[in-house]
Amino acid sequence: MSDARETTTGLTPLMRQYQAIKQQHPDKILFFRMGDFYEMFGDDAVKAAPILNITLTSRSHGGNERIPLAGVPYHAVDRYLARLLEKGEKVVVVEQVEDPRQAKGLVKREIVEILTPGTATVEGEGNGAAPRGLAAVCVRNEGRRLGMAALDLSTGAFLVDEGDRQHITERLRVLEPAEVIFPESLGTQAVRELVDVPSACVLTPFGDWNFDYKTADRELNEHFGTSTLDGFGVGGQRLAITAAGAVFRYLRENHRHRLAHIRRLTRIDDDEVMSLDAGTVRNLELVRSIATHTEENSLLGVIDHCRTAAGSRRLRHALLHPYKVRAPIERRLAAVDELVRDSVRREDIRACLKGLPDLEKLCGRLGIGRLTPRQAAAVRDSLVVARKVRGLLQECHSPHLIDCAGSMPQMDALIELLDTALVDDPPIAANKGGIFRRGYSQRLDELNDSIKDARLFIASLQEVERRRTGIGSLKVGYNKVFGYYLEVTKPNVHLVPKEYIRKQTLVNAERYITPELKQKEELIAAAEEKIFQLEQELYEELLARITEEIGDLMLTAELLAEVDLVAALAELATVRGYCRPEIFEDRRLVVTNGRHPVIEAVLPSGTFVANDVELDGEQQRMIILTGPNMSGKSTYLRQLGLIVILAQIGSFVPADAAQIGLVDRVFTRVGALDNLARGQSTFLVEMVETANILHNATPRSLILLDEVGRGTSTFDGLSVAWAVVEYINDVIKARTIFATHYHELTGMAALYPAIHNYQVSVKKWEDRVVFLHKIVPGGCDDSYGIEVAGLAGIPRAAIGRARQILRLLESGKFNQSELAKGVYRQKVQPTIFDPPPSPIEEELRTIDLENMTPMQAFELLRKLKEQLS
Ligand code: ADP
Repeated sequence: MSDARETTTGLTPLMRQYQAIKQQHPDKILFFRMGDFYEMFGDDAVKAAPILNITLTSRSHGGNERIPLAGVPYHAVDRYLARLLEKGEKVVVVEQVEDPRQAKGLVKREIVEILTPGTATVEGEGNGAAPRGLAAVCVRNEGRRLGMAALDLSTGAFLVDEGDRQHITERLRVLEPAEVIFPESLGTQAVRELVDVPSACVLTPFGDWNFDYKTADRELNEHFGTSTLDGFGVGGQRLAITAAGAVFRYLRENHRHRLAHIRRLTRIDDDEVMSLDAGTVRNLELVRSIATHTEENSLLGVIDHCRTAAGSRRLRHALLHPYKVRAPIERRLAAVDELVRDSVRREDIRACLKGLPDLEKLCGRLGIGRLTPRQAAAVRDSLVVARKVRGLLQECHSPHLIDCAGSMPQMDALIELLDTALVDDPPIAANKGGIFRRGYSQRLDELNDSIKDARLFIASLQEVERRRTGIGSLKVGYNKVFGYYLEVTKPNVHLVPKEYIRKQTLVNAERYITPELKQKEELIAAAEEKIFQLEQELYEELLARITEEIGDLMLTAELLAEVDLVAALAELATVRGYCRPEIFEDRRLVVTNGRHPVIEAVLPSGTFVANDVELDGEQQRMIILTGPNMSGKSTYLRQLGLIVILAQIGSFVPADAAQIGLVDRVFTRVGALDNLARGQSTFLVEMVETANILHNATPRSLILLDEVGRGTSTFDGLSVAWAVVEYINDVIKARTIFATHYHELTGMAALYPAIHNYQVSVKKWEDRVVFLHKIVPGGCDDSYGIEVAGLAGIPRAAIGRARQILRLLESGKFNQSELAKGVYRQKVQPTIFDPPPSPIEEELRTIDLENMTPMQAFELLRKLKEQLS
């Protein structure tokens, strides 16, 4: 009541309380707890209502004015929060921090947390492809060197790295954080240019003083309980540490004081794993399909047979960071192999994992002090599963599975504690009782016993009173205002005994209390208050006990995820008929009857045409692949990339046999025409990406080039393509597949022994072509463009004319007088000339592309993209 009372200032005390908090966070949406609702006022309500699809109303806030108001029920708040965060909003959650019944005057309210897109701990309904986590960047030497840290608060995974701008940009583009914080003085625009994050990523300026190496080092050491961070492999990485420290400070600022699940910094070890650039991740559709932007029909989507979300996350991480050294690959391969052969054990393991709760995320909840009683029971259930899985693994033979069993912590004591403490199905809320099993706390049992009779009295009251009064429809009910009551319908009122005291009149019924009922009710209420409080205290204690084990819990979660992944890869190999690849230290790539894992899965069973690859890495290093459009060139070259990546995460591969000489990095470059669909345009993008490959590839790399040189005129494009092939062959010596429709390039095989021609075989039948999708030796001397145009439905007359023109070109008689003899010269001018250049192309002509460094090119590209958008 007092909340709404007006004061002399014109604002109600409640609104003054609200304003005082809102002033601290004008840029964020305030969720203001009032009873069972979180209310938003003013502009916040106007902004949020349409996003949340809730009704906008208004309320008096003192005087005659009314302000907009919108609210969401507290029990469904996570869903609403998640939706706002997905839209890039930041939300301040304000709770009532005292019991409204006990408050003298206005209920005290405080900020309990601030949720931002990168630090949210609520689960949305996203499809798994949504960006996640918080990153921080900081710079030195005018942006020449950058540090970054990226934290997934829901699991505690905390990656740090530093390097040049391109390196960090690639990292961030692959990680796709939902939010990036940066030193305020840099300015949002500069940061966007510097690290080129996707537009969905929220950029949040953060005070410069939070980016200080010494403070970061001290605060991180305090948090981890270490004296130096060197043990995490980040020794000397000052910028990385600075960024990590800023992440911590940002969390503190957002009222995240408990972060027990953040237990280490992890550096992505470039000596052990490949760093795939974002373009390659996209082109190979490793975790997301280009067409749908979702996991569906991506490599991940198609091969993921994991039984747990943590397993799927691990698979995703593996695909983005395949190994490039032999030992870990062989370890996982041998484990997968064992579970391929031992299908009974595989099934047993997978059956155990099926209902496993997400222990990694539960650790996240525990770490921030938000584990609900129901989630605590889920921790208990996970540990029971872990114990079973460990038992199954102990009888395995491969070192990896045995090690997983051996490393899995013994947590019987915690299981027992949780078993004796928690009821089978505890509630979500920790403050409403009903959490603990009888026998766990003597005090709690005594309190419960003290009101046993009173509870029994109420439970049996309805029956007793019905019999006593003869009113068969008499009901016992409860509401917050009147407490327990006896309800009698109007026609029966004359039967009501005289000791009933009328409390409330409804349309069809009267509600009564009795002195005895009131007395029991008070007894219960008084005891329940104590019970709820005691249970809450006991629960806090229990949480503290579980938190002590968080390190072991997280290790268990990680090992279960790994076991899930291995079993899932074994399942994949079995259902899809994959083979175990042999891994070599040399540079061979020999694949027999290889298939594209995604296209094979999408096409009707048995229709995919398998193909071989045979490169010894020395005498045969490069394949020039020719063939008409739509014949299967891209499929073939992507297929090899995917097979290599699968092999190097330790998976079986879609082939009858595969010999993989370790690849240190896969590079892809897809022709400009394919990119045009994404509005990314032109030859320059293509050349920048090609330059990146030529600068970074090594003799161990695998380069997959699809239609390079197509974004410019024929002769230019052909010359560039030729020169690129020569450079790779002479200087880089990387294994390469070059798919092209420039059949002139097949001439290179005669000049360079390591280059070999292959083509996609095509059958010509009358005027048409039939694609066989079979890759065979030899160069294709015909690009079949005209046939493909015919297949696509270009009118027959135009196809006929195209043949004429082609003949003129081939015979060197391509001149005005010959052309003028064309079939429909009166009606249509042949358009053999390029369309007028676009403004961007105009600009490009003025630039000295030849002498440009990749960094300058990057710069230019960014400017151009800006102009375009
Ligand atoms: P290109 O790169 O030559 O233009 P793509 O590789 O994009 O051709 O292949 C075009 C389509 O042909 C694919 O989407 C697929 O449906 C089909 N295809 C390609 N390779 C095969 C194959 N080996 N077996 C069956 N179908 C294939």
